[in-house]
Amino acid sequence: MGAMPKEAYVRCVICKIGEIRQGKATVTLERDGTTLVIKGVPASVCDNCGEEYVDEETADRLLKTAAEAVRAKVQVDIREYVEA
Ligand SMILES: [Zn+2]
Repeated sequence: MGAMPKEAYVRCVICKIGEIRQGKATVTLERDGTTLVIKGVPASVCDNCGEEYVDEETADRLLKTAAEAVRAKVQVDIREYVEA
């Protein structure tokens, strides 16, 4: 998971070959013994290497969701991303 590049339709910063396209990603977050899999996360995905870029707001939501799961002592959970 990388930071969203500022310009639209830029080349992937990881492989420098692929083009970044809007799509959905499945993000896995692991922290403090909690593994959270979140499906349907709005992301930009490289069409070459598959690197996923999420914007700041989405990354923020994901981190908050993970923090809540840690507090609830969840071990493993699979969820759908909920839009703000
Ligand atoms: Zn790439």
